[in-house]
Amino acid sequence: MTIHENRTTAEAPIIEAVALRKSYGNHEVLKGLDLSLARGEVVALIGPSGSGKSTFIRCLNHMEVPTDGTIRFRQKTVGDAFRDKGEEIGYGTLRRHVGMVFQHFNLFPHKTVLQNVIEGPITVLKRPKKEAEELALDLLGQVGLAAKRNDYPNHLSGGQKQRVAIARALAMQPEVLLLDEVTSALDPELVGEVLAVIRGLAEKGMTMAIVTHEMAFAADVSSRVLFLDQGVIAATGSPEEIIRNPANERLRGFVSRFH
Ligand code: ADP
Ligand code: MG
Repeated sequence: MTIHENRTTAEAPIIEAVALRKSYGNHEVLKGLDLSLARGEVVALIGPSGSGKSTFIRCLNHMEVPTDGTIRFRQKTVGDAFRDKGEEIGYGTLRRHVGMVFQHFNLFPHKTVLQNVIEGPITVLKRPKKEAEELALDLLGQVGLAAKRNDYPNHLSGGQKQRVAIARALAMQPEVLLLDEVTSALDPELVGEVLAVIRGLAEKGMTMAIVTHEMAFAADVSSRVLFLDQGVIAATGSPEEIIRNPANERLRGFVSRFH
């Protein structure tokens, strides 16, 4: 491989959406969106409720099947089969490498914190239990919850539950992490501890697409901001251009409501 090819590989996007469309019946929710995420990049998605943010990131890991357009993961087109096939990767592979954290935690209530975190590695990745536990304890340490490992989710605060959910997503060792309004269901005093964990991930180089209404956080943690409005990317640019000093009236109006 030449140096040039090497560089091309290193700079190639890890995940891409090209001309992505999604309709529910006659309602076209995503009207041709493009996104390209390089390794280590953090993109913030902002926009009014109903603009298509959740649908967009759910399409990125194929939790929703796009109506049209392409998702590429490491230059391979994501096909419509579960299994990898030639130059296509199946969405099973995609989902294993692209983790997701939701607004409403979705922890298993009848499992302890540790059992929640080791579940995916053991059942999906077929890791030995001991190895899965070691990684889980390391991750729980990183989110500040190693001491809670034997507690059940209903004994935790919302902020703690969300930090467990993040550790659980990380236990699958994803290459990309998608976060959908992960602080929106939390009491205000619990938001900071979750944002601190995400900021730490960004500093460690985790590739992320973050849907959030926390404008100051989005500006702080992302290298690029996308403003979604009615199913299109209505504006994209640096945090400076989109959040701190928005150029147009529509954007200024939206951003100021969350400051
Ligand atoms: P956001 O996350 O920006 O609030 P969503 O992606 O959740 O927006 O929703 C975008 C639009 O798609 C909304 O009008 C919503 O009602 C519609 N929508 C989302 N999911 C479905 C679904 N499963 N079936 C029908 N309509 C849906
Ligand atoms: Mg949403």
